[in-house]
Amino acid sequence: MNPRVHIHAPQSTAKTIEATNCPDCTKRTRMLSFFTPWYGWGSTCLRCGREWSDGRWMALPFVRRARQINIDAAKKRWRAAPAVADNHYGDVV
Ligand SMILES: [Zn+2]
Repeated sequence: MNPRVHIHAPQSTAKTIEATNCPDCTKRTRMLSFFTPWYGWGSTCLRCGREWSDGRWMALPFVRRARQINIDAAKKRWRAAPAVADNHYGDVV
């Protein structure tokens, strides 16, 4: 028997940064957003680390420094992702 494992880890195909007021911390901040096909836009506040997925507020994981982990992950993802990938569909906000 040959087991086959499929790891579902879609990559984002577009990114954008926006200066706005965060709905969670209510402060002026920058939001890093990434578009992933099928999942839509996901955003992270660079001030408080709160995340939204396709417009929905995401609960923080129950780990120490969860907010800072989110901020660091968003920055790392921003540096690695292309502005718009070849397989992107739809509009870039
Ligand atoms: Zn915030």
